[in-house]
Amino acid sequence: MLDEIMKKSKPKNIENAIKKLSEKLGNKKISIKPADLFSYSHDYWLITFHWLLQGKVPAFPDVVVWPESREDVVEIVKIAHEEGVPVYPYGGGSGVLGGAIPEYGGIVVDVKRMRSVQVHEEDLVVEAETGINGHYLEEYLNKRGYTLGQIPQSLYPSTLGGWIATKAIGQFSTKYGGIEDMLLGIEAVIPPGKIVELKPHPRTATGPDLRKLFVGSEGIFGIITKAWLKIWPYPEERFLMSFASETLEDALDSVRRILRRGAKPAVVRIYDKIETKRHFYKFDEMYGKVGTVIIVEGDPKIARTEKEIVEEEFKGKPMGEEPVKHWLETRFIVKEVSEFAPLGVVIDTIEVAVNWSNAAKLYYNVVNAMKSVKGVLFASAHASHFYPQGVCFYFTFAGLPPKNVSATEFYNQVWDKAMKATLESGGTISHHHGIGRHRAKWLAEELDGAYELLKKIKHVIDEKNIINPGNMGV
Ligand SMILES: Cc1cc2nc3c(=O)[nH]c(=O)nc-3n(C[C@H](O)[C@H](O)[C@H](O)COP(=O)(O)OP(=O)(O)OC[C@H]3O[C@@H](n4cnc5c(N)ncnc54)[C@H](O)[C@@H]3O)c2cc1C
Repeated sequence: MLDEIMKKSKPKNIENAIKKLSEKLGNKKISIKPADLFSYSHDYWLITFHWLLQGKVPAFPDVVVWPESREDVVEIVKIAHEEGVPVYPYGGGSGVLGGAIPEYGGIVVDVKRMRSVQVHEEDLVVEAETGINGHYLEEYLNKRGYTLGQIPQSLYPSTLGGWIATKAIGQFSTKYGGIEDMLLGIEAVIPPGKIVELKPHPRTATGPDLRKLFVGSEGIFGIITKAWLKIWPYPEERFLMSFASETLEDALDSVRRILRRGAKPAVVRIYDKIETKRHFYKFDEMYGKVGTVIIVEGDPKIARTEKEIVEEEFKGKPMGEEPVKHWLETRFIVKEVSEFAPLGVVIDTIEVAVNWSNAAKLYYNVVNAMKSVKGVLFASAHASHFYPQGVCFYFTFAGLPPKNVSATEFYNQVWDKAMKATLESGGTISHHHGIGRHRAKWLAEELDGAYELLKKIKHVIDEKNIINPGNMGV
């Protein structure tokens, strides 16, 4: 058996639980095969690539279950509650912070067989089970003349349930918003095996919005089984624009002014000088500049007006459509980590958000903080999501740990510097990847007194602490 780096314990009643699962669900929905246990021993948390290369895993589950209906999920949660055995909801496993790692052993519940979907055209609503794959959902909608507008870079490996649980956001967010803006209704199973259904309405004032309790819940309250989301008619018009600016401040200020005027380009990405060189190497005129790509889309009349506003406000040289086409073609490629990890290079990305008034300060503080760690080869960022109030910076660092420093120690040092610099600069420690197991150590500082509230809510819903125990540190 391989070493398990994060494993805390093995549940006492696991054999009973497996027996009951097999009686209730049948053997086609459960597995204890080593290959399956290995597949669910990790997610896409990048430091774990280094562990896997050394023949170590984060933690094995004891059993994997693939429910096919919400009734199956009810049975699983009931059994887990009765036996006091941990349950970890699992979607695509593309989470990047260890949120789905079964650190206390127990049952991994992969919901991907639950993927039914239907469109309610007059209401502009899609209803789908949460195991549905992101790309499949968007393609299904596109074929019927609609879009959800939720295109994360992980569109292909992630699921609807994972999007809600991590509060994910897509590349077209400046127009369509994040998953929280799309969610109208939700169904989830919570301990001791109870279905909670909050129906979709255009708006409702029926107490605190409990739908939102599950947004960003990272699998600690229950298993989300279904959701109702807003959809849009597929855009009839699309304009591609790009610019080269002298400074990051010029580009940020241009976007700030565009949003103040009420225009909502779907995609806006501002790359610092390092990332412009890396992504737009084909375009000589962008060399040494800050590159921006913008896509405006929607109803032709509205899109034309928004395009004019972008052209009026952007401080930078127009670079035309080609850089945007290049971005569209390359935006899902993430091969660097698997190429460089075997060479010992440690890479990760860190996304944070900040108000406009602190934006440039935060960018420089975080880049410099990461660069101050011995071994860091580069630290860079692009601004990837925008609001009238501020911006998300998506930092990337890469480095080689110095002699006698392990990859994990090096990784933690860089993260610690970045998180502290973010908090000191007035930012929030996560914009969309969430907390998981890795970021939990900085969550209490960010939430302050509200962290205790989060813990209390968790323990009221899940009194035996069986639903994704340890995640987010609660
Ligand atoms: C290459 C790459 C690019 C990425 N790009 C983006 C991006 O553009 N935007 C973005 O927001 N994120 C991005 N991510 C992060 C990740 O894809 C998202 O967090 C995504 O929402 C995770 O979905 P998943 O189905 O893979 O969830 P998983 O990794 O399986 O799970 C993530 C968390 O959600 C919980 N969970 C999963 N399903 C359920 C459910 N049905 N009920 C309750 N809890 C559940 C798990 O327990 C876990 O805590 C990227 C990741 C990678 C690897």
